[in-house]
Amino acid sequence: MKGKMKAQVFYEAEKMKLEEVPIPEITDIDVLIKVKNVGICGSDISYYYGLSPVGTATGKGPIILGHEFTGEVVEVGKVPQEMGLYKPGDRVVVNPVQNCNACFSCAKGQTHLCQNLNVPGVSTDGGFAQYCVSRYTGLFKLPDDVSYAQGAFTEPLACAFNGLRKLKIQPGDFVAIFGPGSMGMMMTQLAKRMGAGKIVIIGAKNDDWRLEQAKKVGADFIFNIMETSSKYYTEDLGKSIKEVNSDRLADRAIVPTSSNAAFEQAVEISGNCATIVHYGLPNEDDVFEIPALSFHTMDKEIRSAWLAPLAWAQTIRIIENGLVKFDSLITGTYPLEKTEEAIRLLKTDPGQQIKIQIKVSE
Ligand SMILES: [Zn+2]
Ligand SMILES: [Zn+2]
Repeated sequence: MKGKMKAQVFYEAEKMKLEEVPIPEITDIDVLIKVKNVGICGSDISYYYGLSPVGTATGKGPIILGHEFTGEVVEVGKVPQEMGLYKPGDRVVVNPVQNCNACFSCAKGQTHLCQNLNVPGVSTDGGFAQYCVSRYTGLFKLPDDVSYAQGAFTEPLACAFNGLRKLKIQPGDFVAIFGPGSMGMMMTQLAKRMGAGKIVIIGAKNDDWRLEQAKKVGADFIFNIMETSSKYYTEDLGKSIKEVNSDRLADRAIVPTSSNAAFEQAVEISGNCATIVHYGLPNEDDVFEIPALSFHTMDKEIRSAWLAPLAWAQTIRIIENGLVKFDSLITGTYPLEKTEEAIRLLKTDPGQQIKIQIKVSE
C-alpha cells in the first residue's frame, strides 16, 4: 500500500518524534495491519529511557516501538493469501515474538529462542504507528466479542500465563506475587482460575493505591514492604505471611517486577518444596544471592519464565472465556500524538497507573 502514515519514531534515550513516514511495504510472507490499540509495556519505558538496548543490530534507533497491539488487516502477502489465511478487514492481534518455524530451536518447541526472530516494536518497526507489518505466522484472529482494547492484552497475558504454568500451582496453594502492576493483576486473576487458594500481592514505595486495586481483582492480602507510613506496611514479610497462612510460608512465589531484591525475598518467604518463578527482566549486572542451605534442605525449586512460547492459543481461550478482566486495568487511553507523554507519566508518576493504551485509530 502506497502512502504516508504518522508514526512515533524512537531515536535515542528520551528522544521520540511524531513523523510522517512511508507506509511500510510487505513481502510475500507478511500482512499489513492498520493499528488500533497498543499497550505500553514496561519494556517500552526501558527502551525509551535508554535502560535497555532495543533489538536492532546496533541496539539503537531509529525504530518504532510498541509490541502489544491489535489491528485490522489491510493487505495480505502472497503466501498467507494463497493459504487463504487472512483477508482485508480481519480483526487481529499480533504476537510480536515471530519465530521462523524452520530452525533447531523452533523444531524443539522453543519458539521464543528461535535463531531468526522477528519482533515488531523491538527489532523491527512496531505499533506506535498507523500501520505495521507482521509476518503471517505471528497473527491471531480476535474472537468477535473481544474488543481491540482487550485484545491488546494478549501478549502480556500470554507471558503471565507462561509464568504461571511454570509455577505449577496445586489446588489451594498459597501464592505470593511481587508487584501490583498490570502483570501482577492479570496473574492474580489467572492464578485463582488455575487453582490458587489465597493470594498475597506485595508492593513497595508508592504502591498503596495499586495494592488496593489488586484486592479488587482478587488478591486476598496486600502488603507494602517499603513505605513505613503505609497501613499495609510490614517489616517482616515472612512473618506476616505466616500470620495469614496457618503459620506456613508461601507455596508458590512469582516476581513480575525487575527488582532483584524482590526475587531474593521471594525465595526467602517461600516454604518447603516451594516453586519460585523469576519473571521480571533483570538489569544487566544483577546477581542474586540466596541462602544455599535453606534453599537445599527446604527442597525449593527456582525457574525462569521468558516470553510466552506456545502459550498464545490458550491465552486467546482465556480471553474469549472472560477468565481475566481487563477493563479496570486500563487507567489511561491516549492518542498516538501523546505516546511520549504517556510513557513519561508511567515512569515519573506510576502511583495511580496500571496500563495505559495508545488508541491509534477507531
Ligand atoms: Zn511487553
Ligand atoms: Zn526458528
